[in-house]
Amino acid sequence: MRLFLRYALDALLPRRCVVCRRAVPPNESEPICTDCWSAVVRIKEPRCPVCGSPFRSDAALLYSPTHRCGDCREAPPAFTQAVSAGVYEGVLADAIRQWKYRKHVALMPILGALLGPALDTLPPADAVLPVPLHPTRLREREFNQSLLLAAWVSRRLDRPLLPDALRRIRWTEPQITLDRAHRRKNVRGAFAVRNPKLVAGRRVILVDDVYTTGATVNECARVLSRAGTEAVYVLTLARMVSGWCNGVKDIDDTVDQSSVPKSGDMET
Ligand SMILES: [Zn+2]
Ligand SMILES: [Zn+2]
Repeated sequence: MRLFLRYALDALLPRRCVVCRRAVPPNESEPICTDCWSAVVRIKEPRCPVCGSPFRSDAALLYSPTHRCGDCREAPPAFTQAVSAGVYEGVLADAIRQWKYRKHVALMPILGALLGPALDTLPPADAVLPVPLHPTRLREREFNQSLLLAAWVSRRLDRPLLPDALRRIRWTEPQITLDRAHRRKNVRGAFAVRNPKLVAGRRVILVDDVYTTGATVNECARVLSRAGTEAVYVLTLARMVSGWCNGVKDIDDTVDQSSVPKSGDMET
């Protein structure tokens, strides 16, 4: 009888793709249909060897493989290298929002599979740590999405996870409302290394969900370097790329405010 009910429920309520809401074919097991998933724009070479910003053509790296983007030349970041798996737009932006604000935890395996190839491009590291959330925001959101990603990376690399190595010591205004210069200022002094012994002399991978201007991860890298970290590699699921969507404001406008905690900033 119970089995019959389950079949009946499956027929009445087919599993739907969390992005396009169409019924997922019975032979597919993922929460996102293959049509949607194949539309995710993966970030590959050519890209800036420092911040990972994609270049429009190979020309920039043809004669000088270490050619950095304009932003990195103007203001060299505190991290050693950053890479992102995909462009923050369309399906990927939607999937991240579903995961983060609607707590769609079933998305973690598919997001992890996306993160893998980006992780493989980073040099070897000794430990993995997430960008911490402020305790108040953690209470609002109930989970730190960066910690989930960092745990996935730690398991995959078989390297220790340092969930408390960094802490957020100051509340910051949502980054979404600020321009690039003010973002760096806004997060200045927002983080502290809890136990320098954990990170000194080590190469670490710092994990976050979205790289917007890099101000948040840059500030984390700055305090880690001051604590003696040998190298900070930044790994993010997605990255804002100008030209792929209408600037930073676009993110905020497309977030369904009814399901989002008070501050809808993407760069937490
Ligand atoms: Zn779909
Ligand atoms: Zn760059």
